[in-house]
Amino acid sequence: MNEYFHYQQEQLCIENVVLSDIAHRFGTPCYVYSRAALTNGYRQFSEAFKAREHLICYAVKANSNLAILNVFARLGAGFDIVSGGELQRVLAAGGAANKVVFSGVGKSEAEMRQALEAGILCFNVESAPELERLNAVAGSMGKVAPISLRVNPDVDAKTHPYISTGLKQSKFGVAYTEALVLYRRAAAMPHLRITGMDCHIGSQLTETSPFIAAAEKVLALAEQLAASGIKLEHLDLGGGLGIRYDDETPPSIAEYAQALLNALQGRAEKIIVEPGRVLVGNAGVLLTRIEYLKHGEEKNFAIVDAAMNDLMRPALYDAWHAILPLQKRDAARQQYEVVGPICETGDFIGHAREMAVDQGDTLAVMSAGAYGMSMSSNYNTRPRAAEVMVDGAQIHVVREREKVEQLYAAEKIIC
Ligand SMILES: *Cc1c(COP(=O)(O)O)cnc(C)c1O
Repeated sequence: MNEYFHYQQEQLCIENVVLSDIAHRFGTPCYVYSRAALTNGYRQFSEAFKAREHLICYAVKANSNLAILNVFARLGAGFDIVSGGELQRVLAAGGAANKVVFSGVGKSEAEMRQALEAGILCFNVESAPELERLNAVAGSMGKVAPISLRVNPDVDAKTHPYISTGLKQSKFGVAYTEALVLYRRAAAMPHLRITGMDCHIGSQLTETSPFIAAAEKVLALAEQLAASGIKLEHLDLGGGLGIRYDDETPPSIAEYAQALLNALQGRAEKIIVEPGRVLVGNAGVLLTRIEYLKHGEEKNFAIVDAAMNDLMRPALYDAWHAILPLQKRDAARQQYEVVGPICETGDFIGHAREMAVDQGDTLAVMSAGAYGMSMSSNYNTRPRAAEVMVDGAQIHVVREREKVEQLYAAEKIIC
C-alpha cells in the first residue's frame, strides 16, 4: 500500500473515499484510480529531471484511459505511443502531438501518414525496412519525418522474459552493431531528419544498473555518430522502471533519474524518458466481489467476479498482486485460490492467499493501474469493467461499464 490507500475504521480507502462506496454505486469489477497518485508520480519525474532539458513521455499502453492521459497532458507530459489508435487517444485527451514519440516494430503506412499529418515529435524507428517505408511515405506527403533509431543495447534487464526487450534475440530495435550503418543510410534519405536515439530494455526493472549500462552504450554510439557528422538533439532512454507489487525494492524515481543524469553528465542532448508502469501501477486498484466460496477437496476457492479478461497479468506472467478486503473482518483466516469465472485453468488472480472473508465481500486487487484495463479483453463475452477516478473526495466515472450489446454491435448474421 502507498499513501493514497489506507484503512480507516477497518475500511479500505482511496484518498478521501471509502472504496466500498464505489463498489456499491458502480458495481464490480471496477478499476479505481487516484488522481493524486498520478499527479504526484508525474511531478516526481519532472522534479527529478529539472536540472536538464527533458521530456517525460508517458507510455500510453500502460493505461490509455482518456482521463488518465488528460491528467498527464495538463501536467505537460509528452506521450510514447505504439499505434495510430493510441495517437488518436492522445489527441482526443488533449495531448500535444509535438510531444509524441512513436515506438513499435510494425508501423503501417497509414499510421505513419496519420502521425506525419499530426506532426509528432519523433518516430522511434526499429528496422531498416521501416526507415525505407517512412522515407517513402513522408516523401509522398511532401514532408520530412523526424527520426530516432531504437538501438538494442544488448543489456539484460533481469526481468521477466516476456517483458525483457533489450537482448540481442529480441524483436525490438536495431542491432547495436548495425546502428551506425543505418544512421548513415538514414542521413542520406531525403525525407528523414535524424533527431535522436532511443532504447527501451524492458519493464518492471528493479535495479538501476541495467539502465546505466544501456545509457552508456547509447552514449558511446552517439559519440561515434558525432564523429561521422551526425548530431543528435535528444537521447530517449525508454521506460521500464519497476514498482513494488510484493517485496520488490525498485529504486525511487529520484534515484533512477539521478543515475541517468550522472550517466549523461556533460551531454548537451535533451533527455526523453518513457515511463509507463511507474506512473500508473500503484495509482489504481481493481475491485472485485466474491461470488462464491467453494471448498474443494484439496483447495478452497474464492470465486470472484473479475477474471483474466479484466486483469491478465497473473495469467500471462504469473504476476503477483496483493489482494485486500475492502472491509476487514474479525474472523479466522483461510487459504484461498482467488479465481475468476472464465473457463480456463489459467484464470486466476492470486494463489494461496490467506484471507478472512465471506461470500459477497469485496476485495481490492492492488497495484492494478498499469497493464490492467489496457490489456483487458471481452473473452467469454464479458463486458469490460467500469473505471473510476477519485480526486480527493470526488468520484468520477471515467469509463462506463460496457454493455453486452456493444460487444456484438459490429457483428452480422448471414443468411
Ligand atoms: C512499454 C514501453 C514503455 C513503458 O514501459 P514501462 O515498463 O511501463 O515503464 C516505454 N517505452 C517503450 C518503447 C515501450 O514499449
